[in-house]
Amino acid sequence: MPKSSGFRLTPKTEFLRPYLVPSGRMFDRYAWPGGYPIIYVTGDGGTLCNVCVSRNWKQIREATDSADHRSGWSLLGVEIHYEGPDEVCANCNREIPSAYGDPDAGQEVGME
Ligand SMILES: [Zn+2]
Repeated sequence: MPKSSGFRLTPKTEFLRPYLVPSGRMFDRYAWPGGYPIIYVTGDGGTLCNVCVSRNWKQIREATDSADHRSGWSLLGVEIHYEGPDEVCANCNREIPSAYGDPDAGQEVGME
C-alpha cells in the first residue's frame, strides 16, 4: 500500500471510506452499486460536491474531527440524492441533479 497518496481518514471521517474512488485519489460523485448521485452533507446544513470534498480534504478533516459545525466544512454524512430538485454545492455552486429528477418540475404551477 502506498503511504503518501490518497486520503488519510480519521476515526470521525472513516464513514467516508466507501465513497473513495478505487484509486483512492478522490471522493466519488456516484454511489456504487447503483450509480446514484451522492451529496456530502455538512454540519451547517449545507451540501458539498465530491470535487470540493476532495480538494478541501484537509480543512474538512480538521473541521469534522473537531466538530466545528460553524465553518461549513465539517461533514455529518453522505446521502444518495434519489429525487427532488438539484442540490447545489455550497462551495462551488455546482448543481447536483437527483437520480430520478424532480417530480414537481416541469408541471404547470397551480394549486388546487
Ligand atoms: Zn463543489
